[in-house]
Amino acid sequence: TDAVPPLETSHARLTVLSGPTAVGKGTIMAEMRRRAPDVWISVSATTRAPRPGEIDGVHYFFLTSERFDELVSTGQMLEWAVVHGRNRYGTPRGPVERELAAGRPVFLELDLQGARQVREAMPDARFVFLAPPSWEELVRRLTGRGTEGPEERERRLSTAREELAAVGEFDHVIVNDDVGRATDELLTLMGVAERVE
Ligand code: 5GP
Repeated sequence: TDAVPPLETSHARLTVLSGPTAVGKGTIMAEMRRRAPDVWISVSATTRAPRPGEIDGVHYFFLTSERFDELVSTGQMLEWAVVHGRNRYGTPRGPVERELAAGRPVFLELDLQGARQVREAMPDARFVFLAPPSWEELVRRLTGRGTEGPEERERRLSTAREELAAVGEFDHVIVNDDVGRATDELLTLMGVAERVE
């Protein structure tokens, strides 16, 4: 007979990572992908234009404003938010529910507004804040990255100031002073085993 999977009543396998712009979320996630490929990382939808090298369906689902509206109004977004006062970003609900039901560890990288919405819906998920070693270091990383012009940089720094003030809302804080060490800490919190090559 077919085994019936147990009903998922806890969201303990769901981890939400938040943190200010340029703190190194992307780098940590790349490291996690390499060391723990069994973790399922959600692909967000966004109305932002792709940056050079970004692939639709891999980095984001790049949607028109109309299509984004449609997913929101039909309840297909687990959460969504206007980030940095400009574009909308959201988590497609279906894939997250499917992966959780399959018993896999699920990982979401969200802004503060998104993290708060998920906490309302799934209070037993794990909420992790990635913090920079210092404010000066954050400014240095954002400027060094060079992907944003001065105006966009200012906008992101102003969001970052607000996000840093909300650090107390999170279950765990990881300081990103070293990518390898910060990833160790994250994987330990998540309770996922590293794939040894
Ligand atoms: P970027 O434009 O640099 O790719 O992303 C800007 C920020 O949008 C990210 O740092 C992240 O915090 C946030 N973000 C990305 N995907 C989502 C999402 O699905 N939902 C929410 N609420 N925020 C997201």
